[in-house]
Amino acid sequence: MRFTRYLIKPGSKVRLTDWDPGDRSASPGSKEEDTKQLEKLSERLAELQNVLYAEHKHALLIVLQGMDTSGKDGTIRKVFSRVDPLGVRAVSFKAPTEEERDHDFLWRVHRHVPGKGEIVIFNRSHYEDVLVVRVHGLITDKECKRRYVHINNFEWLLADSGTTIVKFYLHISKEEQKKRLQERLEDPRKRWKFRVEDLAERGYWHDYRKAYEDALSATSTEWAPWYIVPADSEMNRNLFVCHVLLETLEDLKMKYPKPKDRLEGIVIK
Ligand code: ADP
Repeated sequence: MRFTRYLIKPGSKVRLTDWDPGDRSASPGSKEEDTKQLEKLSERLAELQNVLYAEHKHALLIVLQGMDTSGKDGTIRKVFSRVDPLGVRAVSFKAPTEEERDHDFLWRVHRHVPGKGEIVIFNRSHYEDVLVVRVHGLITDKECKRRYVHINNFEWLLADSGTTIVKFYLHISKEEQKKRLQERLEDPRKRWKFRVEDLAERGYWHDYRKAYEDALSATSTEWAPWYIVPADSEMNRNLFVCHVLLETLEDLKMKYPKPKDRLEGIVIK
């Protein structure tokens, strides 16, 4: 695989400062070349989604995580722009409701996982329950460790039932976040997105980094690996995610199924 070096080896310890958010190895061309390449790759992704649906053997779960403004929404928009909307579902996870909080943290997540033939993208996910809640001291470190075990077991259940899982951490720098927040403040089409609370969260940058490092280290498994995506460049981020998804789907060696009936000699009048 071309992007294996961005994959967190199970059991290894992640230090995010070792990873360059500005790395552009996935987008080596000019803007025009990269745009063309992205179009080509997203068309190929659409084709593979079609086979995934037709074959009805595998399910694909994509988990997107990252700091505020890391580009989760944009990735979904661009990478899946060519995919048939009938074949893909994006689920956004917000702060849990009272009913959700009354259950175990995976309760609300399990019902959204993909069925056979389906692609589901988690825009935030069950990982918020070892990130934001940890940063704000709503769970102890001990409880957080237990949650890692639950997550690994949960993902193993999914993988063992025919779901391929790929998890992306969209890695941006603090400077890039500043730029993007500034843009939100200034651009009338983006202002609605600006939330004062995001500034408070930015103040927790180092706590989030630590929480991410621990979570990524504890939950990158053979059956549900994490990729660190250099995401200061949107083009690099989109091409990276597209490449990894294509390689993942191609590895499944999917085929269109044979028709159920014998079709030889049929003439349509
Ligand atoms: P986004 O930032 O993803 O575009 P929002 O601005 O609506 O969308 O943010 C969703 C918020 O929900 C985030 O602040 C996130 O931390 C929060 N959230 C998601 N899952 C949980 C959870 N399990 N516990 C607490 N907060 C959560």
